[in-house]
Amino acid sequence: MPLEEFEQALAEFCEWVKTYRANVAGLPVLAPAKPGDVRNALPSHPPTHGEPVENWLADLDRIILPGITHWNHPGFLAYFANTGSGPGILGELACAALNANGMLWKTSPAVSELEEVVLRWLAETLGFPSEWFGMFADTASTSTLVALAAAREAAGLNIREEGLAGKPQLVLYFSEEAHSSVDKAGLVLGIGQRGLRRIPADANFSMEVDALESAIAGDLAAGRKPFAVVATVGTTSATAVDPVQSIAEIARAHKLWLHVDAAYAGSAAAVPELRAHFAGCEQADSLVMNPHKWLFAPMDLSVLYTRRPEEFQRAFSLVAEYLRTGATNVTDYMNYTFQLGRRFRALKLWFIFRYFGTDGIAARIREHCALAQRFAGWVDAHPQMERLAPVHFSVVCFRIRPRGAGDEAELERINADVLERVNASGGIFISHTKLKGKYCLRLAIGNLQTGEEHIRRAFALISSGR
Ligand SMILES: *Cc1c(COP(=O)(O)O)cnc(C)c1O
Repeated sequence: MPLEEFEQALAEFCEWVKTYRANVAGLPVLAPAKPGDVRNALPSHPPTHGEPVENWLADLDRIILPGITHWNHPGFLAYFANTGSGPGILGELACAALNANGMLWKTSPAVSELEEVVLRWLAETLGFPSEWFGMFADTASTSTLVALAAAREAAGLNIREEGLAGKPQLVLYFSEEAHSSVDKAGLVLGIGQRGLRRIPADANFSMEVDALESAIAGDLAAGRKPFAVVATVGTTSATAVDPVQSIAEIARAHKLWLHVDAAYAGSAAAVPELRAHFAGCEQADSLVMNPHKWLFAPMDLSVLYTRRPEEFQRAFSLVAEYLRTGATNVTDYMNYTFQLGRRFRALKLWFIFRYFGTDGIAARIREHCALAQRFAGWVDAHPQMERLAPVHFSVVCFRIRPRGAGDEAELERINADVLERVNASGGIFISHTKLKGKYCLRLAIGNLQTGEEHIRRAFALISSGR
């Protein structure tokens, strides 16, 4: 693409992006596409000859947009709503334009060094220890897998050298409310379902530490090898907080690796009055948080911190001759994880810091939490609604409970109908979950465009007819 042609196309794309962002609030938040619609609208074969940019843009509007669920929509209140902020998008643009591969310091010194600096800024912003080593990954699933691989290596069984055959059964502990990425990491690492111990959660959906202790004791008595525990700050369903402080003590007593999963809630540590939820996290061996969830970074951006980077090197360092550089006092990130090639992800977080500032970040997260509290207040005041979990951050779990309603099955049917009706409105998208077997509606605030009017609208739709 010659420079002049690229310039022209870039201008047209900028216009397209601008128009999309200006109009997104008027689009249906949930994709209207039926299964196969997008596939069937696309040609079966690639073009033999190139096509002009205008055609691609037209197809973005005609074929792709109807197949997009608009996470950018201010009425997106499902899962963990997020924000692809302006500065984040500009970071992606610069990243693609530079196309640097940060596998080694030498393959682009700025990729390694900006990553180091921005992750130190982030640790400072979140109140985490300044000596923690940080690295980017695509998702929390990857970060947790890499962390638990280091934990497995740190268990002292020489698995890197000898593999798992003939070793005692390794055991990994996490709450029944933990994210499925923890199970998946266990599966990939050869722990097996038999070694994955889901610990019961209490009435507030936090891990029961007594149950953790007795599970460990039982496994030790049976000759198994406990090696790691995952504590969650901000569980995926109810945003519950595990007692990290107590879990850390147990981990220390049994020499278990403590990994903290704060994929969603980690950003809330930027707000001083929310920091108490993170007590004990400073003792973690590793911690994951996702700026692509609640720190305004476009997909994808996950951060993994550790105070034991040498264990990651022991697990992953394997330097082929062609990758030896002799450089010293530099970070070659390929030695700390399984991936070689690395995108220049630091740019988007750098721009986010420079646009919002740490005060601006805290103010916006605080505002999201205030909106969630307001919504929870309306739920609590409504005679035919009940809240099913404490609101620690920006998510509210609740349900409709008509007077005289019958059993759980009937309540599930009533609430599932409400969910369908609300989401069919086009302007609001909420999701659902189950807490201790109870079907509940779940409203999550995480988009910078979401304001009081949107949660008011959601509440009106949900409560209409009640
Ligand atoms: C969303 C979430 C994950 C998974 O995040 P990905 O980046 O999509 O892999 C893991 N843990 C928790 C607590 C989450 O909320």
